Amino acid sequence: MTHLLTVKITRFAALFFLLMTVFHTLSVAQVRFGKYFHDRTLRLSYTISGDSTCCKADFEAWQVLGHWAGARRGLDVCNDKSSMEVVIREKSTRRVIYHKSFSSLFCEWQSMNFDEPSGDFNEGVMIPFPKRPSVVSIIRNYGAGHADTLFNVSVDLPKPPLHDCERPEYEVVTLHAAITRRCIDIVFLPEGYTENEMDKFLEATKKMTKGLFEYEPFSHHFKSISISAVLAPSPESGIDIPSEGIERKTLMDFSYDTFGIERYIGTRNYWAVSRLASNTRWDHAIILVNSDRYGGGGILNYYSVFPGGNPQVTELFIHEFGHAFANLPDEYEEPGNPIVPNRESDRDCIMKTLDTHFYCDECKAKVESVIRGR
Ligand SMILES: [Zn+2]
Repeated sequence: MTHLLTVKITRFAALFFLLMTVFHTLSVAQVRFGKYFHDRTLRLSYTISGDSTCCKADFEAWQVLGHWAGARRGLDVCNDKSSMEVVIREKSTRRVIYHKSFSSLFCEWQSMNFDEPSGDFNEGVMIPFPKRPSVVSIIRNYGAGHADTLFNVSVDLPKPPLHDCERPEYEVVTLHAAITRRCIDIVFLPEGYTENEMDKFLEATKKMTKGLFEYEPFSHHFKSISISAVLAPSPESGIDIPSEGIERKTLMDFSYDTFGIERYIGTRNYWAVSRLASNTRWDHAIILVNSDRYGGGGILNYYSVFPGGNPQVTELFIHEFGHAFANLPDEYEEPGNPIVPNRESDRDCIMKTLDTHFYCDECKAKVESVIRGR
């Protein structure tokens, strides 16, 4: 009897200890969104320039937007290190309350080791609005433990009422509504579609919305993904193709031939991308350029871009979004492509060829972990 009681007490003590440990771990590790942040977004803009080995950045401005659309869990944990980081630290406690990794076109430029200076890139990042005075740091991470803080800026702003936040300029169409509040907000943006071509843009976005939910693991998460489209016409139809002498007046200055690579579509004007996307709640901007010519680009937590008129538009979307959403590497052999060691280079995956209509198991698992980590 005594022995049985001792065993019970010991088990109870062990369970109590385990629960206390879990509670302590959670309370230390988790930054609760509501405790540290208002349900508002700050869109931070800066200018960055440099050469192949170093860079400088200058803070430009804040804009305050309505509700926060990004992750509300794991805010201070940066699992996926990339070339840029944004860190928010509370002034009074010095505690890191937000830490996110992203990349940018400037970092892609630096990775190509050009000899000449880069000129200015207008870039930026979205962060949640801290409740108490904080310092925001923008960091260039070169890897192998080498990182530079490009600038620090203090945030001590009063929370504005919703009607004082930046107002939408364009009509927004909801293509798919999530049923959970903690969702992923995807926004499609048109580049080089005129007023008369908005239906063409909308048709392509509907095709891609349907296409996204035909791919695993997105197909399992249709309840937690929202998709919308901003109906913003460009003054002229099509986009720049410098190698063919084609120039167009468009909203975000996207161009083929970025860095001299014909199929690479990009823009130095991220301010225009984030301003246009901010017509609605968003945390992933997907740009359709009005062209059928093959090409694209996808940059982690920055943007995905591809031609809306290409016959493989859905496959291009899933491929580029793989880069931007989950930091998936290209799996085709090409100088400069970081093929991950120990990966089977002959396996099938849409990150290898657009003729394969699925992610491989590793890519699927990575996308799944990003969705579940939010
Ligand atoms: Zn893969």
